[in-house]
Amino acid sequence: MTATTNKIQANEANGARPLGARAGRPSREEAENAVRTLIAWIGDDPKREGLQKTPRRVADSYKELFSGYDENAEAYLERFFTDMDGYQDMVMLRDIALESHCEHHMAPIIGRAHLAYMPDKRFVGLSKLARLVGVVAHRLQTQERMTAQIHDAIQRKLKPKGVAVLIEAKHHCMTLRGVHDPDVATVTVQTSGLFNENSRMEERFLRMARGDAAR
Ligand SMILES: [Zn+2]
Repeated sequence: MTATTNKIQANEANGARPLGARAGRPSREEAENAVRTLIAWIGDDPKREGLQKTPRRVADSYKELFSGYDENAEAYLERFFTDMDGYQDMVMLRDIALESHCEHHMAPIIGRAHLAYMPDKRFVGLSKLARLVGVVAHRLQTQERMTAQIHDAIQRKLKPKGVAVLIEAKHHCMTLRGVHDPDVATVTVQTSGLFNENSRMEERFLRMARGDAAR
């Protein structure tokens, strides 16, 4: 087990949440053979010309789509600032593009994340919060767990007075198959601290997440 793996596990060993990278992975060749098996199983010929390089491409794209297993989500929040020239209100990132895959069907989950924290001495670079969302999303996920993991990482690393996370997303396992409803969207929210105790703060967050503040 590598040092990185240990770090991921130490940071994310949190209840029943899945850990990051796992030791003892199959080889690249085994992964490509598995893709060949799936192609044959759906009824096509993995040896025909158009499909010959497909297993390699699928393995390449999986490396990219699931890069979150090789990254520590919370590492992006390790460096923070303690002074923001007197700024004392909430910090919000709206409309962070979210691309993930559901752990039940390995089908895309495409949506947006909105998050806010009420700082208490710790501020983090805004792009770092977007990175956090990216790492968490690039794993097999449920929307509920992603919401909780983003929330908890901000809570643990920045120790703010409050955290709020809202994700709205379409699950392609529902839009393309199963119930076949192209319009159904899933919304998950997790709040704590001021966003939980103070209804005015919660309302401000929800209003800003809808984009009202920008209009
Ligand atoms: Zn699914």
